[in-house]
Amino acid sequence: ACTTARRRVLLLCSPCMGHLIPFVELARRLVSDHGLAATLLFASATSQPSEQYLAVAAAAVRDGIDLAADGGAPLAALVVDMIGVAARGVAAELGVPLYLFFTSPWMALLLLLRLPDPEIDASAERGGDGCGGEHRDAAEPIRLPGCVPIHAHELPASMLADRSSDMYAGFLDMAKAIQRVDGILVNTSGEIEPAVGGGMDGLEELPPVHPVGPLVWTRPVVGVDREHECVRWLDQQPRGSVVYVSFGSGGTLTLQHTAELALGLELSQCRFVWAVKRPHQSLANGTFFGTQKGEDVLLDFLPEGFMERTRGAGFVTQSWAPQTAILEHPSVGCFVTHCGWNSILESVVVNGVPMIACPLYAEQHMNATMLEVQVGVAVRAKVAVDRFTSREEVATAIQRVMVGEEADERMRKRASELKDKLVHALSKDGSSTHALAKIANVWKHANKDK
Ligand code: UDP
Repeated sequence: ACTTARRRVLLLCSPCMGHLIPFVELARRLVSDHGLAATLLFASATSQPSEQYLAVAAAAVRDGIDLAADGGAPLAALVVDMIGVAARGVAAELGVPLYLFFTSPWMALLLLLRLPDPEIDASAERGGDGCGGEHRDAAEPIRLPGCVPIHAHELPASMLADRSSDMYAGFLDMAKAIQRVDGILVNTSGEIEPAVGGGMDGLEELPPVHPVGPLVWTRPVVGVDREHECVRWLDQQPRGSVVYVSFGSGGTLTLQHTAELALGLELSQCRFVWAVKRPHQSLANGTFFGTQKGEDVLLDFLPEGFMERTRGAGFVTQSWAPQTAILEHPSVGCFVTHCGWNSILESVVVNGVPMIACPLYAEQHMNATMLEVQVGVAVRAKVAVDRFTSREEVATAIQRVMVGEEADERMRKRASELKDKLVHALSKDGSSTHALAKIANVWKHANKDK
């Protein structure tokens, strides 16, 4: 029996940058701070569909481990993202427990843990025609303990789908699979979501929850990110004068929304760095990492004359932006964001940068409300009935944060205080480090007889 060998944690991540980035940071911390070995398997977007769902393909996982094994460190746990929670069979075959690393906020997880829930269902039934109503028709918001009320229009699309649809069935299956994992690591902390871990009264036998976040990239890639031309450009700008605009790895706007955003930036008369994507023709959507072939350098979709009129005041890039290096730059004064959870955490943790929330899809609408109403580090750009932010609204929101002294000061102070608390949570004696140490300790002593 070998009781001293380093234990290995196997992490499986689906092809989304928004999942991969915190998974890499989790793996790094497990190895560098907690004495574990880690293997991270990531299906690329160019993989065959069967490989993309390698979370459920035991053979592919086994091959992956063989390739990555170093001296056969015994496996202690399988950690998957929410797309991989169907991998229970794989974990069983490998003889290890299955953990979920949830890369969105606690509020979104609690919503899933409480589904199906008579309270939530009742809120749908009270709306609409009253006969087995749909969530999208709910007149009353969903009230989760300690969280901001969630209105129907803020729910993720899969929850708004017909309850008889395959999409909703898939969503429910995922929620049920989450309830059956052996433990959940959440990329949050009590400092930003005080309700984390609570609100589960009446729900039996739910997996233990470990708030190990915020696990984000706080270190720009040495010699690359800080040398990026947009960072060089930021070096030339006055302190706190630049608006950083990005909709994450997948957020794509419509042509019309892109044009309004451009004209809103122009109208605000503020400097900006904009990581722009070629727009969709219709709905604002998610175009995920790797699906756009080649680099499209033509900015012909921007309003006529925009580039000339904003020359010197703005920097537009269509390539992957070094977000952490941008957010940590002293010239950046606010972040216009789609409210992806990593972007939110990075904005606060890296430099306490206040945000302008322009949510697009998934749980981003809920995140935006939480940021504005509960955390107080963002203003939300007003959205018309057709979910479209006009140039005037973009400019007003930017000016409120960048120019409006009072709002700006209050938000900046909150963001800076929150940053200090989160940095402390991640420090050697912080709550997040303790939460990760607790679960790492379980893994370190797993399978002692192997
Ligand atoms: N990101 C980046 N450069 C880009 C776009 C995105 O570095 O040009 C990173 C960003 O820092 C964050 C992640 O990609 O870590 C996006 O995650 P988020 O949860 O914010 O949004 P998602 O892409 O999942 O919608």
